[in-house]
Amino acid sequence: MEKQEDVIVLGGGCAGLTAAIYLARAGLSPLVLEGDQPGGQLTTTDTVENFPGFPDGIGGYELMDRLRRQAERFGARFAGDAAEELSIADGDKILRGAGCFRCRALIVATGSSHRPLGVPGEREYFGGKGISVCATCDGAFHRGKTVAVVGGGDGAVEEALFLTRFCKSIYLIHRRGTLRASRILVDRLLATPQVIPVWHSLVEEIVGDGKRVTAVALRNLESGERSVLPCGGVFLAVGRIPNTDFVGKLLPCDGDGYLLGLPDNPVATAIPGIFIAGDCADRTYRQAVVAAGSGAQAAIAAERWLATALGSGPVKPHSASI
Ligand SMILES: Cc1cc2nc3c(=O)[nH]c(=O)nc-3n(C[C@H](O)[C@H](O)[C@H](O)COP(=O)(O)OP(=O)(O)OC[C@H]3O[C@@H](n4cnc5c(N)ncnc54)[C@H](O)[C@@H]3O)c2cc1C
Repeated sequence: MEKQEDVIVLGGGCAGLTAAIYLARAGLSPLVLEGDQPGGQLTTTDTVENFPGFPDGIGGYELMDRLRRQAERFGARFAGDAAEELSIADGDKILRGAGCFRCRALIVATGSSHRPLGVPGEREYFGGKGISVCATCDGAFHRGKTVAVVGGGDGAVEEALFLTRFCKSIYLIHRRGTLRASRILVDRLLATPQVIPVWHSLVEEIVGDGKRVTAVALRNLESGERSVLPCGGVFLAVGRIPNTDFVGKLLPCDGDGYLLGLPDNPVATAIPGIFIAGDCADRTYRQAVVAAGSGAQAAIAAERWLATALGSGPVKPHSASI
């Protein structure tokens, strides 16, 4: 029989860990199920320059380690489980995966995963064969080589800039003629001679020799011309998809799978006791500080809901505001 928890936080990224800090400080001893990426997306980036409080920037891994230790200090507990299914029984929320967990209140903060390109060669050469979604993790394997980064947002530009530490040259392949990334990153990128933008181009295939990536096959969207660009590695940064498959039809999502909150309270859902936070419910901002903020909101909402649901009298002010 699974153990009954008062509150479970699903996800160990910025949103989940911030929720855990608030819940733990309120004395609720939350259990955080971290899934297969403890620390979340930020662990894949080298430096975070826009998280408030770090004027010189901070490493993505270090920032997440600090959040985790802060939650632990106040009594948050952690498990590496991932939920594969969510159901409700007698008002309790049941999470099934390799293990089974039952709780009264649940905060879903499962973030997002990289979006695949969906082209030939992508599956074949993913992982140790030349295709990566993390320059911080895999950039050093391409020392002195030419690589390609695919995408045009902040993530793609950050990946390209980070790769300049190792690679001889970096093609930044984008299907438009301008980048969506923030101005400061674009300026930095365009001033870096190692990075060669390849505009208006669509990757049609990732080509290899059976063992490793050797090139990308492109089509120019303006001229229709096809070309092959030799490179030893490909870094994909073409967007993210929310990790919400496991909720099935239990919680409302938009057409792309982002969880939908209530109109008057975006961290609450139609199911009493289920709250949502971070990138899994945010198709617009997708920033660490925004995820952390919504994690705090979800925790405060969950704490207030639990105070009523557990019959501990009228809703008390949140401990953070005392
Ligand atoms: C390369 C890169 C660079 C970035 N740089 C910046 C930056 O400089 N500044 C900035 O503000 N933002 C940046 N971002 C965006 C930022 O990382 C995200 O907005 C933020 O991490 C979102 O936090 P989150 O907690 O919602 O989700 P995530 O960080 O995605 O964390 C999700 C968590 O949920 C877990 N999980 C997933 N599915 C399950 C499941 N079924 N069961 C249990 N657990 C599950 C995962 O293991 C993970 O722990 C960057 C993102 C990337 C990819």
